[in-house]
Amino acid sequence: MEIVTVRLPASNAHLIRGRTGIVLVDAGTQGAHRKLRAALLRAGVEPRRLDAVVLTHGHADHAGGARELVGTDVPIVVGTFDAAILAAGHNPPLVSTNLTAKMIRPFVDRGFDPYVADVLVEDALDLSSFGVSAHAVVVGGHTRGSLVVVGRPGQAAVVGDLIRGGHFGGTLLPSKRLPHYFSEDTARDLDVLHDVIARYQPDRLYLGHGGPVAVEAVLETISDAK
Ligand SMILES: [Zn+2]
Repeated sequence: MEIVTVRLPASNAHLIRGRTGIVLVDAGTQGAHRKLRAALLRAGVEPRRLDAVVLTHGHADHAGGARELVGTDVPIVVGTFDAAILAAGHNPPLVSTNLTAKMIRPFVDRGFDPYVADVLVEDALDLSSFGVSAHAVVVGGHTRGSLVVVGRPGQAAVVGDLIRGGHFGGTLLPSKRLPHYFSEDTARDLDVLHDVIARYQPDRLYLGHGGPVAVEAVLETISDAK
């Protein structure tokens, strides 16, 4: 499982190349779709030939650009509980965890054209039908429908916004591990992340903002936070 991160102004998108298919995890804001398209083309991937777009959650800075990017040619996959965010075209109320979060919130919290996701994941979805040996597993936490993409033990995992790396959307100190800007309960998010690490034993975590980070470093952060 090879992961290439595309850094967009507000968040990351990740290309996962499998043996027979390519899946994009997260798709940035609606306003960033041209940037994302250009980055994918530079990586040799025509967006409409992706096998699927998997959204770690429904927030505008991860899901807002998906339909714009791939039209109806590529299935968009989301956790069942976050489908309502896509259908509404805006985030539910975000709870800021610090002052920076309050300041950046107007930029992250923009609406997008509502759309209906194609595949809803209630529990877990085997992505091998999209040519990638990995699973999308709904874990909740950051949002009720938040999912992670995990491979075999010892491989990387994509964990969305359960934790963030660095300041200013990960542009400064991207490997510094910090609780996310917006969360109702950052301790719960870290508990969820701890369970993901224990169960799937990834070696590296790819994040929605900043990262990637080594798992040992994340475990240190989690134990420091307790
Ligand atoms: Zn989020």
